[in-house]
Amino acid sequence: MLHDLVIVGAGPVGATLALALADDGLDAVALDARAAGATGRGNRSLALSHGARLILERLGIWSAVAGTRDAVTPITAIDISQRGGFGRMRLDAVEEGLPALGYVVSYRALQAALDAALGRAGNKVIYGAKVTAIRTMPSYAAVDTTQADTGLELSARLVAVADGGGELVGALKRHHHDYGQVALVGKLEPREPHGGVAFERFTPEGPVALLPEGERYGFVWTTTPAQGETLLALPDAQFLEALEQRFGLHAAARNAQSSTQPAGFEGVTDRRAFPLRLEYVDRVVGQRVVLLGDAAQALHPVAGQGGARDRLAAYARRRRVDRAAGIAFTHGLLGIFGSDAPLLRWPRGLALTMLDALPVAKRALTRAMTFGMH
Ligand SMILES: Cc1cc2nc3c(=O)[nH]c(=O)nc-3n(C[C@H](O)[C@H](O)[C@H](O)COP(=O)(O)OP(=O)(O)OC[C@H]3O[C@@H](n4cnc5c(N)ncnc54)[C@H](O)[C@@H]3O)c2cc1C
Repeated sequence: MLHDLVIVGAGPVGATLALALADDGLDAVALDARAAGATGRGNRSLALSHGARLILERLGIWSAVAGTRDAVTPITAIDISQRGGFGRMRLDAVEEGLPALGYVVSYRALQAALDAALGRAGNKVIYGAKVTAIRTMPSYAAVDTTQADTGLELSARLVAVADGGGELVGALKRHHHDYGQVALVGKLEPREPHGGVAFERFTPEGPVALLPEGERYGFVWTTTPAQGETLLALPDAQFLEALEQRFGLHAAARNAQSSTQPAGFEGVTDRRAFPLRLEYVDRVVGQRVVLLGDAAQALHPVAGQGGARDRLAAYARRRRVDRAAGIAFTHGLLGIFGSDAPLLRWPRGLALTMLDALPVAKRALTRAMTFGMH
């Protein structure tokens, strides 16, 4: 039987697509390797833009996620600065007339709400079906899976790949850029309530970011693989000292809401490291196939994816601008802000000061971060 659409991967992106198409009268089937009710991503948190919240609201998902205890933390302001140099910029939700600039959301809670909504909407989802190959032909695409060792083959007019990896589609060339750095991540107990303020601090050794998450901060500390190993092995107290030093915390700092920096940390948990890579495909649309979400691009976390053919071309065009801007912005930030060159500190400070002082530029940056670039 030829389906209209097969969605490979019912993670946050694939499940959202399935729900968005639920009323379109399409014969769509979503496949996911995970068991029904399971989440493969453990305790990961996702940083979602305000624009993403609007999509989830439209699909009736947001209230369920926001109603889950500790699942959503609003980001009320983002403070961007550099250690050992002048220049600072603060983006503020109130100034923008928004409830929040973005949200830190529990992957598990979001996935649970999406799975429940898929069940309610009667979407066809086959769990425990790992896709092993996608074969595309001019008039259709075939999808092979291993399901409970028996195997299952489906065919469709279009396959949307949202498996978080995209390697199944060999025809679309993937680019990999290894930054030769690792992201050290974990949770911090702040000395004072964080008030929803996120921090992005550029230091000569690379950026450090703090995102409010429940009553804690999630941190991303960019460093070399060797230093990452050393830092992972440090006892908690020494690690916190090293982090405060790296961040350049001043003893005078009191409260994240009024100060330009957090008030210090009194505990750290869940430390781990992973390599930083940029991965993307040149084109997100191929013959009878389209890539979505992390399958289309996975970015460095400094940043912090007939008629049908016309719609696919329009998607490819829109995504090209947003993806190119996102990739260039993140990659450029790493070039400018991730660099140790002292000569760059001055223009960096000037850029931050000017952005902070120019309401139009600041608003454009906030809008781009909140809704994406079009
Ligand atoms: C190590 C790591 C840490 C991250 N940390 C953060 C963070 O702190 N903040 C943040 O905002 N983002 C983070 N991200 C990115 C974030 O997880 C992704 O942007 C987001 O999950 C993308 O959603 P997705 O639906 O495209 O893919 P995924 O979330 O990867 O979902 C893919 C789905 O496809 C299914 N699947 C995979 N392969 C197959 C297959 N062959 N057959 C069938 N089903 C399949 C999986 O079971 C899963 O349900 C991190 C990513 C990684 C890898």
